[in-house]
Amino acid sequence: MIEIHTAKEIQTITNTYQKEGKSIGFVPTMGFLHEGHMSLVKKARKDNDIVVMSIFVNPLQFGPGEDYEAYPRDIERDRKLAEEGGVDVLFTPAPEEMYKAESTVIASVKKRTDVLCGRSRQGHFDGVATVLTKLFNLASPTRVYFGMKDAQQVAVVDGLIDDFFMDIELVPVDTVREEDGIAKSSRNVYLTQSERKEATALYKALRHGARRVSEGERNPEVVKKEIRGILEKTSGVIDYAEIYSYPELKSLKTLSGKFIIAVAVKFSKARLIDNIIIEIPDDQKEDE
Ligand code: AMP
Repeated sequence: MIEIHTAKEIQTITNTYQKEGKSIGFVPTMGFLHEGHMSLVKKARKDNDIVVMSIFVNPLQFGPGEDYEAYPRDIERDRKLAEEGGVDVLFTPAPEEMYKAESTVIASVKKRTDVLCGRSRQGHFDGVATVLTKLFNLASPTRVYFGMKDAQQVAVVDGLIDDFFMDIELVPVDTVREEDGIAKSSRNVYLTQSERKEATALYKALRHGARRVSEGERNPEVVKKEIRGILEKTSGVIDYAEIYSYPELKSLKTLSGKFIIAVAVKFSKARLIDNIIIEIPDDQKEDE
């Protein structure tokens, strides 16, 4: 594995791979790697000649009062995990490298951001789209790998690639969970012991929602209310518990087609998110 810090160097190396006709799988991350990240690497390793991973805690996607400074970092450990996972090129730029001077252009995401994390974290997805546009230009990926744990991010990246005619295949990867169901997340280290136990409520609530749908419930308000009921038993504050069509993220009067049940709960030092995507096959439409 080679590690690169500058934009110029990574561009040179990925241009060479491209000229050699090698496919490049790209895994953008903010580091503090866990098995969720490594499942993206595993998939990228399988599909491509070269695997590029970036580790960059992107200041632009954190709002005022969010955890940019406190975001967990451990580059030594990450380096080891990336190498063991089969990453060929690790890109670890400093913030000054990615944002050299005052920006001339910043991406502005127009759709799929007025709900869920986009509503709670104003400007977050503009920051995500901006850094990803930069990173995609540097990594020249054939395929990019994103976790469905951040399903709204996948929906936004899908729009970014599509709208800007980027010749990149987006590969969504299923959420990796702890044994008790909690989605693996770099922020889980900030849960207290009792919050760690309570946090199982997120996936429990989602599974409850999925079960109600499979039992035939088609009213999103009913499902949302029951999910909230489960989350309210924790000491956390519910940021949202919503259901939208996926990937468009539009409101639904009746549950049909493909939709997301998504929850976010703020604990004392960590805000956790999770979701489940459900598709009601067309032949069940008469139930509605
Ligand atoms: P992050 O470092 O949190 O920005 O995440 C980098 C990538 O890893 C994103 O595409 C995330 O969706 C993905 N990811 C994070 N947690 C998980 C998980 N538990 N399972 C699968 N992918 C994940």
